[in-house]
Amino acid sequence: MTTLKIRHLTKLFGGVRAVDDVSFSVRSGEFLALIGPNGAGKSTCFNMINGQLAPNAGDIRFSGRSIVGLPPRAIFRMGVGRTFQIAATFASMTVLENVQMGLISHAAQLFGLWRPARVLHREPAIELLRQVGMADAADRACRELAYGDVKRVELAIALANAPRLLLMDEPTAGMAPRERNDLIALVKQLVVERNMAVLFTEHSMDVVFAHADRVIVLARGKLIADGAVAAIRDDPQVQEVYFGT
Ligand code: ADP
Ligand code: MG
Repeated sequence: MTTLKIRHLTKLFGGVRAVDDVSFSVRSGEFLALIGPNGAGKSTCFNMINGQLAPNAGDIRFSGRSIVGLPPRAIFRMGVGRTFQIAATFASMTVLENVQMGLISHAAQLFGLWRPARVLHREPAIELLRQVGMADAADRACRELAYGDVKRVELAIALANAPRLLLMDEPTAGMAPRERNDLIALVKQLVVERNMAVLFTEHSMDVVFAHADRVIVLARGKLIADGAVAAIRDDPQVQEVYFGT
């Protein structure tokens, strides 16, 4: 089932066509990589999907409904999540408290009420931490964690909102190759278990090719390839963008 359908999406910044007539779809249960060199338009695409930026042209449909022009809050409430970095002010809180905050925010979105009593129970937050392999660190302060572990907690917070589509813009930035691979493998596993869709960007080709179901390639705002890993790997245009001179 198609969950996200993007048609002729275009964003101009002054004279720059940051995203230029881009069309693609995402199906539920799909782990989809959006790749391309720096400045290709990946983040601009993400920011239009979650409502932070208004497109100049084109349409974005989520679950069959156009979401262009909706405020980010409304798009979030429909089930489009994204990962956020844990803010400095939250870093002094424990891992568990950070995930509980995520659950509270989800309850507030769903019920329009501040109803923290139920979700402040330990168990739902611990269960999310278990899913990202961080249950043992529940009572530690986030600021004491290794960088890769913070990224896992950020993932648990995003999952607290039970997204149908999760947008992850460079989730492994700053991580060592081994850590990158582990985090992306974990997200892939969660995609399968939850039948959610994830659209992610990632610089390491090895990681993308090892785990993505499908790959979309942008270059200078344009979509130049969209297909299975094997086809993308051998695509001459993709090779030129990445390895050509
Ligand atoms: P990527 O995430 O693929 O590296 P971006 O979407 O960040 O690429 O950027 C695409 C293009 O749009 C780049 O040329 C960038 O300089 C430009 N751009 C991005 N955001 C802005 C902005 N807020 N104002 C002006 N230009 C921008
Ligand atoms: Mg970017």
